[in-house]
Amino acid sequence: MASRSSAVLHPRVFRSVGRSLLLTLPMALWSLLMFTPSLRQSRRDVTIGSAIVIAFMTTLFYLMVRTGNTYRWRRCFFVALGFLFPIGFISALIAVRGTMSIPIERMVSGDTPFCFMVTPMLVIPAAFTRTIIFPGSILPTSSNPHSIAVMIGLWLAMTLVLGKAWCSYGCFFGGIEEGFAAVRKRAKIRRTVDKFAPRLRLIPWALLIVVVALSAALMEPIYCMWLCPFKTVTEYPAVHSVETAIQMGIFIVLFAGLVVVLPYLTKKRTQCAFFCPFGAFQSIFNKINPFEIRIDREKCVDCTLCQTTCPTMALSKESIREGKTLMNCMKCGACVDSCNKDAAVWHLKGTRVGLHPERARLLFLYGAWAMATMFGGSILANSLATMIRFLPKIHSMLLK
Ligand code: SF4
Ligand code: SF4
Repeated sequence: MASRSSAVLHPRVFRSVGRSLLLTLPMALWSLLMFTPSLRQSRRDVTIGSAIVIAFMTTLFYLMVRTGNTYRWRRCFFVALGFLFPIGFISALIAVRGTMSIPIERMVSGDTPFCFMVTPMLVIPAAFTRTIIFPGSILPTSSNPHSIAVMIGLWLAMTLVLGKAWCSYGCFFGGIEEGFAAVRKRAKIRRTVDKFAPRLRLIPWALLIVVVALSAALMEPIYCMWLCPFKTVTEYPAVHSVETAIQMGIFIVLFAGLVVVLPYLTKKRTQCAFFCPFGAFQSIFNKINPFEIRIDREKCVDCTLCQTTCPTMALSKESIREGKTLMNCMKCGACVDSCNKDAAVWHLKGTRVGLHPERARLLFLYGAWAMATMFGGSILANSLATMIRFLPKIHSMLLK
């Protein structure tokens, strides 16, 4: 007991706590800056939601710095984002339209909030025909500050700096899968996924080529119209014909299979790893951004624990032998945290592998967490405000 308390009071511990607090300070200030307009609002639900998010994001960042563990604390945020996003989004839809469904004609004409998934499908029609196939306002207006131009500008800046990290620090859809993948302690299906992984990894690339080409040919965002599992928990085309019934059926089957059942059985993010064309598109930018995960071959014992842990199959035996991750690495940090030889390391391109990995991790985390706070934090705050607004109604319903 005495030795434990002396360990707790040891000056080194204080220094370490102080250092972690100091390193967390910029992120705390960033959160405050992001949410100052909301804190100033007179609405109590918005103020409380924002205050909770500031405390939540700052505490998680502190824990990442203090413990050296990235994946566990990032996952707390990411899963919360995945499950709270539909609550906020569906509530807003019901408040505005009274329903989650939207007539198919309005969906085709883009009368829906901008979704980042559509980005690769926009490029060719926009470049060759100057047509935005997912309209909405192109430039910001006072009623729609989140215009297509603003969203694409932010996406570009973030992608150039962080590569595919959007998939593990920003994509609310991925958070749902990660939640279901976290339920089981061990994967029920592993060998089959491992066996077919090399072929399965090609599917998102094939899908990307097909949806981009078809969207350009038909001038419609084909993935959104036919293949997006997340329509099930956001907004879906109103079912009034055989065609819309088939669309809805596809969305539900894909959601149940790739977002709920398979992540639960495999502990992998199966939609992200094997079916997301946007994820494949983001992988390209991993080549030109400064941060990556590398395997220090001098320390690695080829146990493949990192490969088993990786939620998106971004490691293979060959890549480990080469000291690299595959192109679809989303920089979640699971492999680094699981490696008990300290061989999987954060790395800043252009430096020696294993040189100051903690510095590389922190530099990356400042960018990734700033983005997470800006996008995901706002979504969390809105969803919490919605829940706070509805609490009295739910309470009175329960008392009836
Ligand atoms: S877990 Fe570590 S030691 Fe094992 S293969 Fe991966 S990098 Fe090498
Ligand atoms: S290789 Fe590592 S950092 Fe990249 S996705 Fe897999 S577990 Fe995450």
